[in-house]
Amino acid sequence: MTEAIIYFKERRLSREHKTIESMIHIYCERKHGTKQDLCVQCQELFDYATLRLVKCPFREDKSTCANCTVHCYRPEMRERVRDVMRYSGPHMLYKHPYLAFMHLAVDDRREAPELPHRQEQSD
Ligand code: SF4
Ligand SMILES: [Zn+2]
Repeated sequence: MTEAIIYFKERRLSREHKTIESMIHIYCERKHGTKQDLCVQCQELFDYATLRLVKCPFREDKSTCANCTVHCYRPEMRERVRDVMRYSGPHMLYKHPYLAFMHLAVDDRREAPELPHRQEQSD
């Protein structure tokens, strides 16, 4: 489990990191009854998503992961993060309206860039 706090110098990635963190917290609190700290499974998912962002080749130009041309998530983790997004998405609108607005109205509309040389992303 990663305990280190990660800071992204790119505003886009920093915002995305806050968005996924907020969504996983909503999910964990309501589905797993946690109050502040995430449960083991949700912490694992958050750590994994964080690592994906650390390694994301698109940096400031990143669209949403759902629109990505690379899809670097392992299939099982992709399914888990989708579950979280489906559940927490509607709650984000009133709990974190700025993040929800930016995700839906700005990031999701940004065209997903292609890699200059398409490469396999490894875990
Ligand atoms: S799915 Fe695409 S946009 Fe999301 S972190 Fe992986 S490479 Fe970056
Ligand atoms: Zn949980």
